[in-house]
Order: sequence, then C-alpha cells, then structure tokens
Amino acid sequence: EKGKPLMLNPRTNKGMAFSLRERQILGIQGLLPPKVETQDIQAMRFQNNLKRMSDPLEKYIYLMGIQERNERLFYRVLMEDIEELMPIVYTPTVGLACTQYGHIFRRPKGLFISILDKGHIRSILDNWPETNVAAVVVTDGERILGLGDLGVYGMGIPVGKLCLYTACAGIRPEKCLPVVIDVEIASISLINLCDPFYMGLYQKRDRSQAYDDLIDEFMEAVVDKYGQDTLIQFEDFGNHNAFRFLRKYREKYCTFNDDIQGTASVALAGLLAAQRAIGKPITEHRVLFLGAGEAALGIANLIVMAMMETGMTQAEAQQKIWMYDKYGLLVKGRAQETDTNQEAFVHDSPGNVQSFLDAVNTIKPTAIIGVAGAGRLFTHDVIKAMGALNERPIIFALSNPTNKAECTAEDAYTITNGRCLFASGSPFDPVTLSDGRVFTPGQGNNAYIFPGVALAVILSGVRHISDTVFLEAAKTLSEQLTDKELEEGRLYPPLSNIREVSVQMAVKMMHQTCSTWLQIVTFQLKGNHALKTHCSVWPFFTPKHLKNM
Ligand code: NAP
Ligand code: MN
Repeated sequence: EKGKPLMLNPRTNKGMAFSLRERQILGIQGLLPPKVETQDIQAMRFQNNLKRMSDPLEKYIYLMGIQERNERLFYRVLMEDIEELMPIVYTPTVGLACTQYGHIFRRPKGLFISILDKGHIRSILDNWPETNVAAVVVTDGERILGLGDLGVYGMGIPVGKLCLYTACAGIRPEKCLPVVIDVEIASISLINLCDPFYMGLYQKRDRSQAYDDLIDEFMEAVVDKYGQDTLIQFEDFGNHNAFRFLRKYREKYCTFNDDIQGTASVALAGLLAAQRAIGKPITEHRVLFLGAGEAALGIANLIVMAMMETGMTQAEAQQKIWMYDKYGLLVKGRAQETDTNQEAFVHDSPGNVQSFLDAVNTIKPTAIIGVAGAGRLFTHDVIKAMGALNERPIIFALSNPTNKAECTAEDAYTITNGRCLFASGSPFDPVTLSDGRVFTPGQGNNAYIFPGVALAVILSGVRHISDTVFLEAAKTLSEQLTDKELEEGRLYPPLSNIREVSVQMAVKMMHQTCSTWLQIVTFQLKGNHALKTHCSVWPFFTPKHLKNM
C-alpha cells in the first residue's frame, strides 16, 4: 500500500510520525505537514486532548477515533495508561457507548452477521480483510453487561474485549476479530425499537432452530477459514444459550464462555487473595450468591473445584454454596423452578427466608457475591449483618456497569469500618475512612483473566480449553498480588501490572502441558515462534520467564 490509502488505513498510518524517507518512498510527501513528529509528541497531544474532556462518552468517541486513524498510537496510549483508559474502552463506559451505539457511530468495526445471512457466513468471512485471525470474540447482544438485550449495539463489547487482548496480553490487533451475530432484539420495550439510529434488523429475536443453525454455521465457517485452533470467546449471550453453547462446543472447538468461566476465575482469584488476608482455608468458607445465572454458576463450580483440590468431596463443597435469585433462596421444593445447571446448589430449606438479609442471617456466609445485574441489593443492613457475622467479611459486588454493582466501595468499607474484603466488577475510586485509612477496592473483572488465558491458549496451540485452565489462571492471578498490596485492601494486582499477569498465565500453562525436558524445549521454541507470529506489541518472555517454564 502506498500514498493516501496507506494513510487512511489505521494499521499502516503513523500520522506525522512518518519519516522524511518514508514519506518519499511511500508517496505521501506533501500530504502531511512538514514536521516529522515523534510518537511521544503524538501521545502527549492525545493526553492533552483527553484531559480537556469531562464526559466519559466523549472520551470514548475520541479514543475509538484514534483506533480508527492510528492503531499503533492507540495501543501505545492504552498500554501506557491502562488504569485510566480501561474504564473508557471497557466497563463502565463501553456500556454507555453500547446503548448509544447508533448515535455515536463513525465507522464500522468488526464483522456483522445477521440471520438473513444464513447459508452465506463463509463468504461473509471472506470479506474480512485479515487472512490470519487467531482469536474471535462473538456476542449475539442478548445480555450486554447488566444492561439487557441491546441487539447489534452490543458490538462495543467484542471490540472492547479485543482491545484488551492487545493492550493486556500483547496479541497483535490484526489477529483479533470482533463479531456480532444479529438475530434481533427481544424486548419491544427496549429503546432501540423507537430509536431511529438502531443498526440491526427490526424484527423479534429469533429463538427457533434457525438461530442454532446459524451459530453452528458460524463456528464451522470460522474454523474452516482460520483453522481448528482459532480461539472463539463467547461473550454476553443470554443465560440459556450461554450454557447450551458452552456444553455443545467446548469439546469440538477451542472455545470458552467469558461470562461463565472468565468471571469464575477472577472471582476465585479474589477469594484466594481474601483467604490469604483472613488466614482461613477456602474449605472453611460459606458463600452466598445474589443471582444464580451464568456468572454465579460459573464461580460456584470453580470454587467447588478449588475446594476439591484440598480433598473435600464434590457434595461437601457444593453444600458450602448457596444461591439467591429473583424468587429467593434456591431450596428444594420451592414454587419456582430451578434449572439443571443450578441443581447442585439447591439445598434443603434452612428455615424461613423472606429476603436476602434473612438469607445472610440464616446461612451466615463468610462471603457474599453479587452477580444479579439488578442494582444496589447489598443494602446497608446486609453489609452490617456481614460485618456482625465476620471479622473480615468478603463482599464482592461484581455486576456491571457501575450502577448495577450490588453496593459501592464506600458503603462496604464505611459500614464495616474497613474490615471487609471488597471487590467490584466496575472500578470504584479508593475510599478514605474518617480516621484517614485508605482502601483501594479490587476490580473483580474478567479483564484480569481472558487476555492471559487467550495468550496462553494461542501460544500453546491447545485445541480445547478445560476448566483447569481457569483454576490455574485464578491461582496465578492471586499469586501476583504482593503482601503489601493485600494490606492496602487490594485483592488483585494493580492493572498497571496486567501484562505481567497475562505472561505468567501463559508461562504456567505451557509449563503444565509439558512433563519432560524435551517437551519443555520444544514448547519454548514453539511458544517463541507463536509469540513472533501472534504478538508484537512488546517483547515479553524474559529470561526470568523462560527459566520458570
Ligand atoms: P444471568 O445469567 O442473566 O444471571 C442473572 C441472575 O440474577 C439470574 O439468576 C437472575 O434470576 C438473578 N436476578 C435478577 N434480578 C434479581 C433480583 N432482583 N434479585 C436477585 N436475583 C436476581 O446474567 P450473568 O451473566 O450471570 O450476569 C449477571 C451480572 O454479572 C451482570 O450485571 C454482569 O455485568 C455481571 N458480570 C460481571 C462480570 C465481571 O467480570 N465482574 C462478568 C460477567 C458478568 P432469574 O433467572 O430468576 O431472572
Ligand atoms: Mn461479559
């Protein structure tokens, strides 16, 4: 590519950072102001512009505009200031951006496949300009964060997730493909149907066999074009479909469901860190969930796995976990049905429980985990009760975005007088108590997990992703937390360390799949080769890492 088209392509464009020689060779001299600018100056301009903006959505539009113009600059600034910028490209702002997607739309990103394309998905994939994709993030828009069905507006999510593949794990952006499957929005009440800018089909969500066939066709088309080892991450599918597809595809494709498995891993990592602070083994904890959906069941099953590692039986471990959904506690014989995924956590009724507060007082959990997506349901009374029952109560408000979190960090820390171990799905600012103590809440978001797992999967070339991967990822993540950080109230390492976390996950996974020296050496070579082909953003397997492999 040469001339103007080269400058219009965000992947090749460098803006004013093209050198004089490049300008001459590439036929773009005169198309830019005469000064040759360093990327440092470009980054400074970006920072200055961003500082002037106060509206998060405006920041999102600006940031995504840089991605559309100059990809290298975009990833540089994103990586350099991930703590500051992640809340914009990712939760919570991405949620706002999704609800407004048609209004703030500039240029299409990612691949749109609608139910009308049935029978032609393979040829649509051929329209995607990259020939060598390693990872796909796909949503059908039915359960975007805790915001419900946003249909095709959900594209913001796979785009944002894949930004983190690159910024947090160094995977080349051209290896990443964001996809929205449009089978239409379900709820007529949704703004989109009276939204003149809505960009999907205007019809009721297809729930027939045609939808299943479409997803089947999509999976086949992806591996046909990009190979059997292409990683396919399912994101923000509705509850029923999420479990079904995971079960259906996990042995056949290289796939995982981030809302079930990624969330499970990050929550378990938080619990492992909390147990370090409390000094009580995981088997002695009792966990009460608010919500009994994808996230809750994913987390619960991984906790069971972690408990079983210490010798507990599965049944014993399951007894330690309780769930409370829209209709109340999951107990045997209740009027509302429970589904098969929930069965293991439906217990004999412990007595008369009318509210979540009752449940807390009856079950006496050491940890409550909020994943209902229904707002501030960890009331002051609930937090107070947790504080009365436990010296160090564990309170995780994991629902996204921020206004769906079960409680704020401030409430959790002030009401328990700084004793709680708190994490939330979307970021909260540090909290200063009246006595001057400062607590930094942990961000229990699967962003700590999926980039590292993706890196591990891509580098090791595995064909299927087992739950063990997520168990190990959780351990790796919690091991990255220093004692000092734990004292500050953190349950996760600072986001500025996230690249190291991802690398450690990849190292651990490669180490685990090798048992002999020969395998280790082969793997190292393979890993380094894969690294060269798939990752570019920063050099990262240092001698320290290689020694641990
Ligand atoms: P889901 O599968 O739809 O599950 C939601 C669950 O919450 C269901 O069991 C639902 O019960 C229950 N629920 C709804 N309203 C409730 C209420 N008022 N009181 C008690 N329970 C209620 O969704 P999900 O995938 O688990 O996601 C749930 C939330 O977790 C979302 O806000 C999402 O953003 C968040 N999440 C966070 C992360 C993270 O990394 N931090 C990752 C994934 C998801 P019914 O089935 O009876 O409606
Ligand atoms: Mn999600």
